[in-house]
Amino acid sequence: MKKNLWCIVAVSALVLSSCSPYSQQPSHDEPEREENPDSQISGTDGSSDNETEQGDPIDEAPLSDHEPDAEHPSDDEDQDEQPHDDTTISLPSEYMNQIEEVDGQAIIQNPDNILAFVNHDYLLPSDYIPDDLVIPDVKFSYGYQDTDKSYMREEAAAALEGLFGAAQEEGIELAAVSGYRSYDRQEELYEQAISRSGPEQEFVAKPGSSEHQSGLAMDVSSSSVNYGLVQEYENTKEGQWLAEHAHHFGFIIRYQKDKEDITGYGYEPWHIRYVGESAIEIYESQLVLEEFFDLVEEV
Ligand SMILES: [Zn+2]
Repeated sequence: MKKNLWCIVAVSALVLSSCSPYSQQPSHDEPEREENPDSQISGTDGSSDNETEQGDPIDEAPLSDHEPDAEHPSDDEDQDEQPHDDTTISLPSEYMNQIEEVDGQAIIQNPDNILAFVNHDYLLPSDYIPDDLVIPDVKFSYGYQDTDKSYMREEAAAALEGLFGAAQEEGIELAAVSGYRSYDRQEELYEQAISRSGPEQEFVAKPGSSEHQSGLAMDVSSSSVNYGLVQEYENTKEGQWLAEHAHHFGFIIRYQKDKEDITGYGYEPWHIRYVGESAIEIYESQLVLEEFFDLVEEV
């Protein structure tokens, strides 16, 4: 990606939504797992479609099952939102979602865009599989396995290698836990959740709305939390290092604390999303992707 694609050009007001604590946010990710990460992984969200599970790869679990304090995000005084400097951001149109309405849903027509903006409102096409998926040369919580969740898109994988390498040099141990996830796998999880909890269930993201399908997201954890995808991760030195350095390698912590009402997801200190150079701007302005795109002006 070329440098200096984004320049801050103008000023406009960004009105922040108020933060109400969420207790039942869906998560993209697996519930925290207590098992020995070195043991055989069963029923994770990868491609090994074990259907045996029950307590398995619910990829998306209610936060209340994860973490009591997810219900009280406002307890953390130091994470208060700062009023943003009011900015607009110029972005070439190729980095904007191109949307087509299909059956009442907004489907992204340019899913290969490194800035693909995927959420509850903007979905990846059901047949989208990135064509440049590779397995990054990094440590995985479950060892090396040629399984869907080990993969990322090439550019993101290279960036992840850089990130993990830098961490290692500073004595910080990071492990990849879950990357690419297919539409079909997400659909399967979604159907399972509906059959368990009814059509109103809100624990599993609908197919197409998971960033993991983009091949640009990776869940990261460390041995200090037994490789779990847990909110305590923010209090570990590894989680803190990740939060402070990910943007230098093109990643953002996608689902931020106190932004639950904006992202529609609970705080996930483990879920990093590759966005390329925009990561610096997003990090420095403390924006989540929803806010970032609110400020973008297409050029
Ligand atoms: Zn994730």
